[in-house]
Amino acid sequence: MSNNKNPLLEPFDQAPFSKIKNDHFKPAFLQAMDDARKEIDEIVANPEPPTFSNTLEALDFVGQQLDRISSIFFNLNSAETNEEIQKIAQEVSPLLSEFSNDITLNQGLFERIKTVYEQRKSLDLTPEQYTLLDKKYKSFSRNGANLNEPDKKRLREIDTELSKLKLKFGENVLAETNKYELLITNEEDLKGLPEGTVEAAAHLAESKGKKGWLITLEYPSYIPFMKYAENRELRKKLAIAFGSKGFHNDELDNQQNVLRIVNLRFQRANLLGYATHADFVLEERMAETPTKVLEFLNELLTKAKPAAEREYTELENYAKELDGIDRLEKWDSAFYSEKLKQKLFNLDDEKLKPYFKLENVIKGVFLVAEKLFGLQFKEVSTIEKYHPEVKTYEVYDDTNNFISLFYADFHPRTGKRDGAWMTSFKSQYTLNGKNSRPHISNVCNFTRSTSTKPSLLTFNEVTTLFHEFGHGLHGMLANTTYPSLSGTSVYWDFVELPSQVMENWCYEKEALELFAFHYETGELIPMELVEKIKESANFQEGLATVRQLSFGFLDMAWHGKDPSNVKDVKAYETEAFISTNLFPETPETCMSTSFSHIFQGGYSSGYYSYKWSEVLDADAFAYFKEHGIFNREIADKFREHVLSKGGTENPMELYKRFRGAEPNIDALLERAGLLKS
Ligand SMILES: [Zn+2]
Repeated sequence: MSNNKNPLLEPFDQAPFSKIKNDHFKPAFLQAMDDARKEIDEIVANPEPPTFSNTLEALDFVGQQLDRISSIFFNLNSAETNEEIQKIAQEVSPLLSEFSNDITLNQGLFERIKTVYEQRKSLDLTPEQYTLLDKKYKSFSRNGANLNEPDKKRLREIDTELSKLKLKFGENVLAETNKYELLITNEEDLKGLPEGTVEAAAHLAESKGKKGWLITLEYPSYIPFMKYAENRELRKKLAIAFGSKGFHNDELDNQQNVLRIVNLRFQRANLLGYATHADFVLEERMAETPTKVLEFLNELLTKAKPAAEREYTELENYAKELDGIDRLEKWDSAFYSEKLKQKLFNLDDEKLKPYFKLENVIKGVFLVAEKLFGLQFKEVSTIEKYHPEVKTYEVYDDTNNFISLFYADFHPRTGKRDGAWMTSFKSQYTLNGKNSRPHISNVCNFTRSTSTKPSLLTFNEVTTLFHEFGHGLHGMLANTTYPSLSGTSVYWDFVELPSQVMENWCYEKEALELFAFHYETGELIPMELVEKIKESANFQEGLATVRQLSFGFLDMAWHGKDPSNVKDVKAYETEAFISTNLFPETPETCMSTSFSHIFQGGYSSGYYSYKWSEVLDADAFAYFKEHGIFNREIADKFREHVLSKGGTENPMELYKRFRGAEPNIDALLERAGLLKS
């Protein structure tokens, strides 16, 4: 490579995909990390006394090239990967963690930041600067920078043990999932299952050299079985297998891992000066404290429980009438819900899809953005792309100012992971008076067109597109100074507001009239279909809400208290579920031992945020509804106080500036139909 220039190390604006070869990545990463380390050394070695500008501001602009390289590389690893890229990812990921650890453990750097932090009250900083200082200081102090040496050592030990335990927890859940299989040999037992599920089960059995049909605990097999299989005994068997992962007192058991994880998290929080792990986590969340989270969960529970109880009785009566079931059990719920839903709404995707041709939906979401924020999307062919299928746009505002680049990559391919997401190739920031605009991307996996049919979206895919586009707007309309506070760099329980709020437009006549035309006849979607979509979206919302809340309570029970006296995981969990229980208790199962969200993933003390975000988006959209869903004044406020501000200020303050008040849960209850009795 010595003689050829590495395009990733040259200055570039748009990602230069056509010039990048896989071999360029590793040397570029190494060089960019080296450069960033030198920049940091210079900040630390600066003979001038530390100031906001020579320390905090300087630090936030360190490693710009590294950020660009990382975003290009990891976006490719998600959307257009191959073995070579995956191999590079495995090589560079530990180097990148080491790089960021070196920063947070850099005591000289911390001392400078701390000096500025201690003068913060007298520095006359803007709110954004104040936030930057606070966040940077905490990124060190929350990692132990203020501790004495023995405590620092203890913290590292805890962190090392925790990361091993989390890994072990996840491995056990995975092994339990892979280990289990339900072999069906009597065709009768398949009754009710959709053809596709039966076929997949037959294939799986065959591939393992078995006769019959294999059902497993993986979602594509487990979910349809619980929804459609008429054999109640088998549903029970499968549900208990699913619910008892990590709870068999064998080598894959997770009970001790749960106890050890929560105790270590508690000790870690104490070491850093926090009462509990939840106090530690929530310091950097909109919800702020465990008390507030519990108040929130309890308020929602009080309002949702009557509806949940009503729905439970309704479902039980229906099961009794249909099959003589006396007591509705957990393994009956998906099955009878599905049957009742079909009976009440008779709504399937095939009826709706003709009204949602992909091109029309894209046009629709652009028109919504135009009506709300005056944005124009101009498709351009001059922007380089990483795959010919990617669409590229330049985005302008109504006075023709350039706002952003927008990449859209809609269809599944080998090398693209599942799901839908928003990401960026470059974030927005302001440097030397120049507002440097962002490059935003949406990636989805929608069914592609065929020679006879265009790409037609399910309604769920339509809301997904609006959702990711909402995250996209948060990135595109960013207007901050510091890159680390820009766009979607906000607290975890605030980040879904811009995305979820956009989904609301999909249910509105005024918005659907812009794009929901039948792909053959051009006819507008009939409004009674739209009404049905709305009603069916709320079907058994009480039960669903109480279920979500129960997970939030369990999470807070494990992380919001001193767990050192807990010995019996199942008993403790049962206690935590008391207020949300509707179904008969199943002694064979345990949620905690496979609750990967909070014990393996990053959701500890954060499960509440699913409902929290719904409250925010419903409350925000209610404001639009009051004044018209395309009201420019409300949209301007949303743009000004929420979308453009990123993480530059406390999100509750930003929200109040937009809405004039703190979010109220009533809008969600109203939308979810939980207020009617
Ligand atoms: Zn989202």
